[in-house]
Amino acid sequence: MAITVVGSVAYDTIETPAGRRERCLGGAATYFSLSASFFCDVRVIAVVGEDFGPDQESVFKARNIDTRGLERAPGKSFFWEGSYLENLNEAKTHNTELNVFASFEPKIPAAYSDSDFLFLANIDPVLQKRVRDAMPGVKLVAGDTMNFWIKDHRAALEKVLQGLDILLINDGEARMIAGNNNLVQAARAVMGLGPRFLVVKHGEYGATLFHGSKSNSGEHTFRAPALPLEQVVDPTGAGDSFAGGFFGYLASQKEITPGAFRRAMFYGSVMGSFACERFGTERLQQLTRADIDARFQQFRDLTHLD
Ligand code: AMP
Repeated sequence: MAITVVGSVAYDTIETPAGRRERCLGGAATYFSLSASFFCDVRVIAVVGEDFGPDQESVFKARNIDTRGLERAPGKSFFWEGSYLENLNEAKTHNTELNVFASFEPKIPAAYSDSDFLFLANIDPVLQKRVRDAMPGVKLVAGDTMNFWIKDHRAALEKVLQGLDILLINDGEARMIAGNNNLVQAARAVMGLGPRFLVVKHGEYGATLFHGSKSNSGEHTFRAPALPLEQVVDPTGAGDSFAGGFFGYLASQKEITPGAFRRAMFYGSVMGSFACERFGTERLQQLTRADIDARFQQFRDLTHLD
């Protein structure tokens, strides 16, 4: 099973209480791809600039991620600068430079057209929509967005939401889209805009899956915890890594049952927890399947009642 993902591939400058890193490899599609690659085949669509070299590409290659849809364009790659000095659960953005993404026309390689799963990682909703429309044959579409697009690109974002089966966002974003501070009411309002499933991430407090309108019954709402970590080095990419674990696990299943959705929430939490342990993509690059299985067991032990 294969997932095609479109989203940012970027350089990030990050400051956290644990330190500062200049221009490390980042981007929503990067974290998503690395994380999902432990569960299924991943094919990426993005654009990078002349500052993206073989060292960066080898990070994708080492995980067997298909980069035929990673276009090179004259100019600089997407750049993001953020910090978490006051709140480790929410990045403060200092700078966003779209650079080569500003004029990106996504082209989907023919080899990607048999993908059954599509993930629209965080990027301009106009680009997300174009890729969605160009892949009408996919079975399941999930996506993400952030305050940057919710605030000033609302109309384009609503068009994307209409075409999604699953939306993954953090709780601040859910409240912002809905204009409602109550999480359950906000979730219902967001699902009213299109997605049948909504995953709301709560940073260090875990994530909630909403499905359907009876948002308080166990059948329709499920919460997975986050792993209490001794030290959060860098939360950048935790949300995208969660999405990669969640959607990658779903894509790896023969049948997508309610149980598969619940386990996917745990695999999402597993991958999000790893992403926080080192700066940038460092931890995901060193990870093994055995590490993932051991941590999944740790999550079971953390939540088991009897
Ligand atoms: P996360 O911490 O999982 O929400 O995602 C962090 C990643 O999102 C970073 O690697 C950034 O490069 C990327 N990012 C930040 N702002 C944007 C934006 N406006 N559009 C797309 N990607 C972004």
